[in-house]
Amino acid sequence: MIVIMEPHASEEQINKVIARAKDLGFQTIINKGEIQTVVALIGDETKVSSTDLLEELSGVRRVERVQVPFRLASRITQHADTVIEIAPGVKIGGGEDLLVMAGPCSVESEDGILKTARAAKAAGAKVLRGGAYKPRTAPRTFEGLGELGLKLLKQAKAETGLPIVTEIMDIRDLDLIFDTTDIFQVGARNMQNFSMLNELGKIDKPILLKRGMCATIEEWLLAAERIMHHGNNRVILCERGIRSFDAKYTRNVLDVSAVPVVKQLSHLPIIVDPSHGTGKTAYVRSMALASVAAGADGLMIEIHPDPENALSDGPQSLKFEPFAELMDELRQLHDFVKPMHENRKPLIKA
Ligand code: PEP
Ligand code: MN
Repeated sequence: MIVIMEPHASEEQINKVIARAKDLGFQTIINKGEIQTVVALIGDETKVSSTDLLEELSGVRRVERVQVPFRLASRITQHADTVIEIAPGVKIGGGEDLLVMAGPCSVESEDGILKTARAAKAAGAKVLRGGAYKPRTAPRTFEGLGELGLKLLKQAKAETGLPIVTEIMDIRDLDLIFDTTDIFQVGARNMQNFSMLNELGKIDKPILLKRGMCATIEEWLLAAERIMHHGNNRVILCERGIRSFDAKYTRNVLDVSAVPVVKQLSHLPIIVDPSHGTGKTAYVRSMALASVAAGADGLMIEIHPDPENALSDGPQSLKFEPFAELMDELRQLHDFVKPMHENRKPLIKA
């Protein structure tokens, strides 16, 4: 950690910083310039919960960490990619296979989810998505079928064998959803629901952690760190677009660069959701392909038998046929780029 003092900080102020650093278990190296002094702290930064402990001292201008604050999720702690087994034979991470999760935004009906599950499987998707509890901004809109939705997902799994990913919105539903799902989805709006992350850290099932719509990559990785801190190491990251100033033509700004950044910083698998990332069916294909080219471990794509009449997110959902065509292209592209990513192992910079 580096403590940058205010210009002309007094000897007393500098000594107080050195004393605090020693109390915290650090050795110090003092670099005295003509105007400004910089104190370098040598030791394990992770023992300092907050830089405030130094920043609050008078005469301190700024404190900078040298190490990343997410330790368990970092490539420094674990160099090799984490590979997560979602169900027997269904794995994500490690760069071997591309894993696609597909399904409707919301589970709407028995017929709809069964048709969708069959189409997803036929096209090569390995996980069925579908929300039973939907986060909706406006009240009086369709918020999912709840328990019935979970029952229908179970039915679709029983018929197709596809493992399930579904969103948890309220920790009180944990047991109910646990019984149905293979992966717990934490939606963008709950990425900073810290009490929920704490609880999900204590369970033995993979967590799909979507990036909050205003979250920095570091905040997102710290949310993953929180889950891992409580014991659950099976975290899959999902980039789904962030809010920016231009919302005229796309719903969100899909941050494809998050893929190589996360690959460099973390060993956790990362997938991309081009459906929420763009909000428009017309752009899903390009962004899905771009994500694979960037090195994503998988994708989450919304598909629907009749998007025009979907109860949520119809404008960004693919019909079955274009989805199957896209899956073919994704497979070809993944085969093409796989050796390129293998030859360019992420630089350890974290
Ligand atoms: C979803 O996957 O349907 C969803 C609501 O996603 P997000 O949390 O990314 O908005
Ligand atoms: Mn959706």
